[in-house]
Amino acid sequence: MPLDRKPAPNDLRAFWMPFTANRQFKQAPRMLVSAQDMHYTAADGRKVLDGTAGLWCCNAGHCRPRITQAVSGMVGTLDYAPAFQMGHPGAFELANRIIDIAPEGLEHVFYTNSGSEAVDTALKIALAYHRARGEGSRTRLIGRERGYHGVGFGGISVGGIVSNRRVFGSLLAGVDHLPHTHLPENRMTRGQPEHGAHLADELERIVALHGADTIAAVIVEPMAGSTGVLLPPKGYLERLRDITRKHGILLIFDEVITGFGRLGSPFAAQHFGVVPDMITCAKGLTNGVIPMGAVLTSAAIHDAFMQGPEHVIELFHGYTYSGNPIASAAGIATLETYAEEGLLTRAAQLEAHWEKALHSLADHPHVVDIRNMGLIGAVELAPVEGQPGKRAFDAFLRAFEAGILIRVTGDIIALSPPLIITEAQIDELVATLGKVLKAGS
Ligand code: PMP
Repeated sequence: MPLDRKPAPNDLRAFWMPFTANRQFKQAPRMLVSAQDMHYTAADGRKVLDGTAGLWCCNAGHCRPRITQAVSGMVGTLDYAPAFQMGHPGAFELANRIIDIAPEGLEHVFYTNSGSEAVDTALKIALAYHRARGEGSRTRLIGRERGYHGVGFGGISVGGIVSNRRVFGSLLAGVDHLPHTHLPENRMTRGQPEHGAHLADELERIVALHGADTIAAVIVEPMAGSTGVLLPPKGYLERLRDITRKHGILLIFDEVITGFGRLGSPFAAQHFGVVPDMITCAKGLTNGVIPMGAVLTSAAIHDAFMQGPEHVIELFHGYTYSGNPIASAAGIATLETYAEEGLLTRAAQLEAHWEKALHSLADHPHVVDIRNMGLIGAVELAPVEGQPGKRAFDAFLRAFEAGILIRVTGDIIALSPPLIITEAQIDELVATLGKVLKAGS
């Protein structure tokens, strides 16, 4: 564009929108112009109740003064500091605060700028860790069908979403996938499903096939969010932990969605009582305000690089913005807000109300499954024949018009409101969704 030509605000071509159907999406995007607490304001001035915490990230609600002030204060104090061999106090303070709320045994923080980078970082740490301990043959990585681990090459390789993988060639070599745990016999379960713990035993099959000494790590979301809120069956994560431990395989929980209170504990690992060797997180770490992610590791992993003979390899890895001062300030203010308002356990208090409200939609047209846990839930619709995804996408459009923001993936409607939501707002969200479903075809 010539320099003298100012872009017209209604010229929408230059911005290549992410995760937006490239050819099918012809209508003007729904524009959001401001936000406060539980609501967005759309360009036409309408208030929209946020049923998704932005994109599973604004756990304390929007534009919270403590966080925005911390960010603007730091912008004018220390805009940037290089992360290599240098530092600034905020990054160290935030790391300690994260470890204070992390599961027992996770003691170190490696900063990234997103969930995708956290995943690729964790996979690299896993490979380098085994090599540092003289087990360099452990190079195989194991993900799971219907897993989402961001969009880096590592993340799409271990991830299990076909459309995210199929146009990008052969991806990482030596990756296997466990089966997903989304079983029809668990339909309409309230809370954690009963059936499917045995699916963790598939890992034994992969071990028998390749040998444990070739396997570096298993990565799963303790609860798969992006592919439609798929809950872990009772006993499944425990079994995965036992099998990985038995074979010296690292277990990574991708908690980019579940981290920071979504299930009623700081991390899902605490909720399920299963501690992995690493946790990846992002999103709620800064309340979505400034991009930041992190990998939390066990002392054993950290020590493998920090101790031992001189020839042991280093972890040579990092990002220009690892532990960025402004993101660190946002993170500290966010964790203070969570602590002060009891938000990391609030989902547990609201869970019974949330469950009852969501399941009241069971008899609505086309609803085939409802799932819930903590402050997350899904309403799955029967697809229109020959047009998968259409029914839920139509519901998304009507919901926005009706004043609620929901998220859809395929024919699944996912809900994950900010943790500050009140019971009355839960009722409003669900009642509006109910009307939207009734009006659908
Ligand atoms: N892992 C999980 C479990 C996620 O849900 C997401 C994002 N939805 C990511 C990784 C990727 O995070 P980002 O978009 O910040 O790269």
